[in-house]
Amino acid sequence: MPNHLDGNALAGVLSEVFTTDVTAARARCGSCGRTSPLAEAMVYPDAPGLVARCASCNHILAVVVTAGEHLILSLAGLDTIELRATGSTDG
Ligand SMILES: [Zn+2]
Repeated sequence: MPNHLDGNALAGVLSEVFTTDVTAARARCGSCGRTSPLAEAMVYPDAPGLVARCASCNHILAVVVTAGEHLILSLAGLDTIELRATGSTDG
């Protein structure tokens, strides 16, 4: 595997889709069940777009591709993603 970045590399492009910081969201891997902040994923920027893989089992969690005026997002590798609700005041 080539060198990778951490999940914070997703912050810029995903800020176009989500109104909250998605890298702080807790994501559950669809393969091994590991639940951790998306920022802990391994992000490979050399694919066509960004590919985020589970730090535990290497399963593809998310793929983000910018194609012209379109942003294509797949979260198919995640069981769940837990985002902070807009306007939340806890924690
Ligand atoms: Zn996993």
